[in-house]
Amino acid sequence: SGSGSSSLMWFRKGLRIHDNPALERAAQSTKFLYPVFIIDPHYMEPDPNAFSPGSTRAGLNRIRFLLQSLADLDSNLRKLGSRLLVLKGEPSQVLFRCLKEWDVKKLCFEYDTEPYYQALDIKVKDYASIAGIEVFSPVSHTLFNPADVIQKNGGRPPLSYQSFVKLAGQPSWASSPLSVTISSVPPVGDVGGCEISEVPTIKELGYGDIEQDEFSPFRGGESEALKRLKESINNKEWVAAFEKPKGDPSAFLKPATTTLSPYLKFGCLSSRYFYQCLQDVYRNVKRHTSPPVSLVGQLLWRDFFYTVAFGTPNFDRMMGNRICKQIPWNDNNELLVAWRDARTGYPWIDAVMIQLHKWGWMHHLARHSVACFLTRGDLFVHWEKGRDVFERLLIDSDWAINNGNWLWLSCSSFFYQYNRIYSPVSFGKKYDPNGDYIKHFLPILKDMPKEYIYEPWTAPLSVQTKAKCIIGKDYPKPVVPHDSASKESRRKMAEAYSLNQKLNGKVSEEDLKKLR
Ligand code: FAD
Repeated sequence: SGSGSSSLMWFRKGLRIHDNPALERAAQSTKFLYPVFIIDPHYMEPDPNAFSPGSTRAGLNRIRFLLQSLADLDSNLRKLGSRLLVLKGEPSQVLFRCLKEWDVKKLCFEYDTEPYYQALDIKVKDYASIAGIEVFSPVSHTLFNPADVIQKNGGRPPLSYQSFVKLAGQPSWASSPLSVTISSVPPVGDVGGCEISEVPTIKELGYGDIEQDEFSPFRGGESEALKRLKESINNKEWVAAFEKPKGDPSAFLKPATTTLSPYLKFGCLSSRYFYQCLQDVYRNVKRHTSPPVSLVGQLLWRDFFYTVAFGTPNFDRMMGNRICKQIPWNDNNELLVAWRDARTGYPWIDAVMIQLHKWGWMHHLARHSVACFLTRGDLFVHWEKGRDVFERLLIDSDWAINNGNWLWLSCSSFFYQYNRIYSPVSFGKKYDPNGDYIKHFLPILKDMPKEYIYEPWTAPLSVQTKAKCIIGKDYPKPVVPHDSASKESRRKMAEAYSLNQKLNGKVSEEDLKKLR
């Protein structure tokens, strides 16, 4: 390869060819283009029992989704006469070897606001600058550049959705249509001594031993993302009337929302293209809902959390996080494990957790109920522990959004009405009085009569026997009584809030110990 003739497109998120400015730039005026994805051991942990604190590596479902997405990207690149080059190892080391071996003059990758990539990208940019390699790293994962919004707000992120929406205004790119097709890309050059593989199988990554009888119906990849997007926006009335939090969290055969989150997480779908399609629908209907409840409003929630997360040091922790209330959460491992393994004895909570294990996706309000239950509602376990479990098991697991919502649900930030606790019994019943959702995800309860399905421990023994489900044996008794546990939680929250106020947020670990 001669000088100036090779460029490298480094895919991380943004696993798509539509609306991909980094890919477009990489393809311009170059003889060879190397499209690369590096399998990063940092995210891999096949052992399902590896739930040590801080271990938030990807579970089977998300890796499966990722590999499907890579296979689809490879196939889309092949249609353009190219292919995806998969490598494995610590990303900067692998990348530096490729840059050298292929004599790359231009390196392109999507900008990423997560701390892990922020640190990695500094290393990569330093290396490139010394080696004389041009770097292009555009913001295209979100509607707005979080840094711009923070700057507009005088250097600090806006902490309410309303102020975010007002500050952000219209996205700068929205005045002209996005480039959503790429007609050709230069061929891949000689790969020389770099160890290139095909997209690996789930077994090759060590996840093969995990048995699972039901998976999420969401197949990874850009093609599937665009197909699903089309199905959603073709239903103009539905898009125009979309209103969250209305919608049934127990609907699983036909979920109440778009279910596009895993595609947005990996960037199989461009959030900007999604936004543009929604605006097109809005222009063609008489009336439509607005933020925060509309579908555009949902995308703005995503950008809101990205912005706050980017501008808040220690956003993913309680300690040292200036927007997080300091609360004396407990470290009760037994309660945590009961919640994680769907053994709380509350069928609604446990069914949602089984859906998490099997699908890696649940409706927003289902996430609300289990997050509230684990933290400020009933168990008073630290939100960081619940966050870890979600981070591992969700297929849409997203650093900014997941942490932001755990802060919200635990009344640690953004939302402070800790007296409003979801009932693990009556909340689900409102939507699904027959308990069809429970019966699907917890088949042990399939013969429990509907009058007991949300509180099976109240069923007479004769009923339990007939339903072939003895409570305390086949299915657990409640880990805590909701009435007294939630009352105690409210009391602890009140106490913690007043301490935070008294000490103006400067609460130490010692202060918290006294409250525990
Ligand atoms: P739709 O209602 O169709 O919305 C479209 C898109 O808007 C979503 O795909 C998502 O990208 C965005 N969006 C919707 N709601 C939110 C929200 N509250 N905050 C930020 N963006 C939003 N979402 C994730 O994508 N990743 C996570 O790791 C994640 N963790 C969560 C943890 C908790 C405790 C809670 C309560 C919510 C979490 N959410 C997370 C937010 C939300 O539940 C999901 O985005 C949503 O349910 C995904 O389904 P959907 O694509 O059908 O959403």
